[in-house]
Amino acid sequence: MDIFFSLQRESLQRRNPERLQTWQNDTNARVMLVHDGQLSIAAEPHYRSLHALTAQQQSELILLGLYRGLPTFALRVEQAQFHGEEIAWGDLRQCAHLLDAETLSIAIQAKALCHWHQTHPFCARCGKPTVMKDAGYRRLCEHCQAEHFPRCDPAVIVGVQFNGQLLLGRQSGWPEKRYSVIAGFAEPGESLEQAVVREVMEETGIRVETVRYLQSQPWPYPSSLMLAFMAEAEHDEIELRDQELENARWVSRESLQSLMQAGEIKLPPRASIAYQIIRQWYEQEGADFAALIKSIW
Ligand SMILES: [Zn+2]
Repeated sequence: MDIFFSLQRESLQRRNPERLQTWQNDTNARVMLVHDGQLSIAAEPHYRSLHALTAQQQSELILLGLYRGLPTFALRVEQAQFHGEEIAWGDLRQCAHLLDAETLSIAIQAKALCHWHQTHPFCARCGKPTVMKDAGYRRLCEHCQAEHFPRCDPAVIVGVQFNGQLLLGRQSGWPEKRYSVIAGFAEPGESLEQAVVREVMEETGIRVETVRYLQSQPWPYPSSLMLAFMAEAEHDEIELRDQELENARWVSRESLQSLMQAGEIKLPPRASIAYQIIRQWYEQEGADFAALIKSIW
């Protein structure tokens, strides 16, 4: 994802009710709808006009920002129809390839925030109901004044290398033959680099010695932030320790190609950061990843 993004989140305006009202009244304002974990993204248009919202719906609008100058909101709706119109609801996993990168990013933002509001109606301190504040970026308990903020769970994902080979693993619940790089959530009090070392050791018994940050990607299942690393292993003996993986194996560039051609290994989806890590590893020595993918088809 490009670091320059056409959506201005306008975070400084979230506590400015006059500005928020002006944007809600804008005839070009639009809303991405979320219903039962799905979004209005399976077909165009991905947004609906804001007019004719009920007062209740207006109070539950989440400001996503100004997208190319257009006020853009998210709204969770109880009904599958919106003002009598059938909506083409879609799951983010299944529809990601239908969306351009910026629309996908907005959909992730909408889904993560709506999911957080849906699952946090009560105060974690006193148990009383909370209310939405700051255009959707805070919940307040008016009973005990506790503030609650949207979750963002950091997870590390790492391409572990040894003598030019890459470590791949597979979980039993994944699609058949799917392999990916190693991943897991960071824990409180732990640096991301320490999380890399721990996760790789827990899942595969491999000790890593160097850890290098690559890039990050929001991953809305439901609110993860994936932080990608490359690491060098000290050795190549695999020992599955925590049973999270049903198999782990080393692949070279040559063996990956033959395993993919034989249908023994399938890569994660193109939109995933895991796919990008595998691509970066493959291209390190000047190998042609696009040619590899073509050779599979
Ligand atoms: Zn409370």
